[in-house]
Amino acid sequence: MAYGDRNMRNRPPREFFKTTCTACGKECEVPFKPTEGKPVYCKECYAIHAPPREDRRRRF
Ligand SMILES: [Zn+2]
Repeated sequence: MAYGDRNMRNRPPREFFKTTCTACGKECEVPFKPTEGKPVYCKECYAIHAPPREDRRRRF
């Protein structure tokens, strides 16, 4: 193993993916890989369209 315990602590910053917001059509970056066929929202639109219950809250 080339990675020591130190790397476990210093996790790399979250990876962002460039995509287009489904709602406003603006270019944006999301902290997850956009899935084709699924709506992707920019930060602003996400605040509006985000479901009240977040199943993936662990990722945030
Ligand atoms: Zn948007």
